Amino acid sequence: MPDAQTKRIQPSRREFLAGVFGAAGMHLISKLRGASDDVTIVEFTAAGAPLPPARVPKVVKPESEWRKQLSPLAFDITRRAGTERSFTGAYWNWHETGIFRCVCCNTALFSSAHKFDSGTGWPSFWKPIAAQNVVGPKAQSRGADATEVTCHRCDAHLGDIFDDGPRPTGLRYCIDSIALTFVKLG
Ligand SMILES: [Zn+2]
Repeated sequence: MPDAQTKRIQPSRREFLAGVFGAAGMHLISKLRGASDDVTIVEFTAAGAPLPPARVPKVVKPESEWRKQLSPLAFDITRRAGTERSFTGAYWNWHETGIFRCVCCNTALFSSAHKFDSGTGWPSFWKPIAAQNVVGPKAQSRGADATEVTCHRCDAHLGDIFDDGPRPTGLRYCIDSIALTFVKLG
């Protein structure tokens, strides 16, 4: 298949998946499972402005649905807490202005305004775009899980947090590129 054709097909495939697994579908799935698991997150406009915090249904899907939606590597990283190899992802050396969203559920997670060059080969941020949208570190966890950072809406594994970041927070959110999609601000 010629490249030009592939490029045309992929966005429409994403749109198709978004239609099938959109917010309404997710809500139905969580209802069928008997879950009333809402979370409060902050949505952002296309121009990057925050909306008031809103209660939304948590995104819960069976593993088979995540496998259909995600590439094998994205599945391994986000649903199996894998780690991409440093200096291999799309965003460690990315300097565009915009919002990084969850590859699984499209929740806004990080802003280019808080990105810094950590030299690690992973995109690094000194804070999330909204405290409500990103979970971590988990206070009760020990060992390897203690530093884990996840998406509040769908529990995707995003990466890890460390305390050697720049001011003002001193934090370093070390994130796998493949857990993110980038949306440029217009
Ligand atoms: Zn998510």
